Amino acid sequence: MPELPEVETIVRALQVNRGASIKNIDIRRKDILRLQEYEVEELHGRTIKNICRRGKFLVFEPGRDLNLIFHLGMSGRFYMLTAAREPVEKHIHVIVHLDNDTNLIYQDTRRFGGVWLVRDREHFFRHMGREPLSTSFTAAYLGDILKQRKAPVKNLLLNQHLISGIGNIYADEALFAAGIRPNRPGGSLSQQEIKKLHRSIRKVLRQGIELRGTTFRDYRDAFNESGGFQNYLKVYGRYNQPCPQCGNLIQRIRLAGRSTHFCANCQH
Ligand SMILES: [Zn+2]
Repeated sequence: MPELPEVETIVRALQVNRGASIKNIDIRRKDILRLQEYEVEELHGRTIKNICRRGKFLVFEPGRDLNLIFHLGMSGRFYMLTAAREPVEKHIHVIVHLDNDTNLIYQDTRRFGGVWLVRDREHFFRHMGREPLSTSFTAAYLGDILKQRKAPVKNLLLNQHLISGIGNIYADEALFAAGIRPNRPGGSLSQQEIKKLHRSIRKVLRQGIELRGTTFRDYRDAFNESGGFQNYLKVYGRYNQPCPQCGNLIQRIRLAGRSTHFCANCQH
C-alpha cells in the first residue's frame, strides 16, 4: 500500500504540472467518486495552482474551493503520460487531460482508493493526525498519543487520526529501528523509548522518500517506475529470514488485521 513516502514521491514528480490547466477530466467509473461536492465540469479550464500531500492523500488545488483529492488505497497508481500515448493498462478509472501535453492517470485494480471532489479541504482533513515529518510532530506529541493506551504501539502508529501517513511497512521498520516490539501497549513505552521511536519514524520515512518509495507489490511512482526502499527493508516482508542485526529469524504476527514483522531478539 502506498504510504507517506510513496505518495510524497509521486507528488514531488507531479509538481512539473503546476500552472497547467485542466482541459477535461474523464471519470470512467462513477463508483470511484467517494464524495462529490461540486460538478466535475467546474474543473475544466482551471489552472492547477498547487499539488500537495496530506497523509496518504494526493491533493490537487485547481481553485480555492475546488479540491481534487485521490487516495491510492491498497494497489492504486498515479502517473503521467504524454498526451500522445494512449494508456493501455486495465483498471484506469480517471484520466486528467492537461493543456501541457500531459495526461494524469489514476489506476487501481482493487479499488480500495478513491476520488473526492471537495470544497473545504480543512474540513475534509479535520480528523487527520499530525504529519510525522512536520515540526509539530514532536517526541512530546508522540508521548501524548501513546500514554495510557492499552492498544499495541503498532496499531496506534497506523491510526490516521493520531499520525497521518504511516502504514504497515514503515510502522514495522520504525519499530525495528527503535528496538520496540510492535505488540507492546502504547502506554508501556518509557520516555527514552518514545524519543527513540520518534527519531526512528522520521528516519525511515525520510529514507523511504530518498529511495523513491517501496515497491512491494503494486506501487509505482509518477513515471510508472518502481521504488528502491524494498531493497533496504530490515523486517517487513522478511518472515523467517535472518535479522540483519543479529541473525535470528524474523517473526510474523497479526496486529490490527495486518501482518506484522519483528525480531524477538532485537525488539523488546
Ligand atoms: Zn535481530
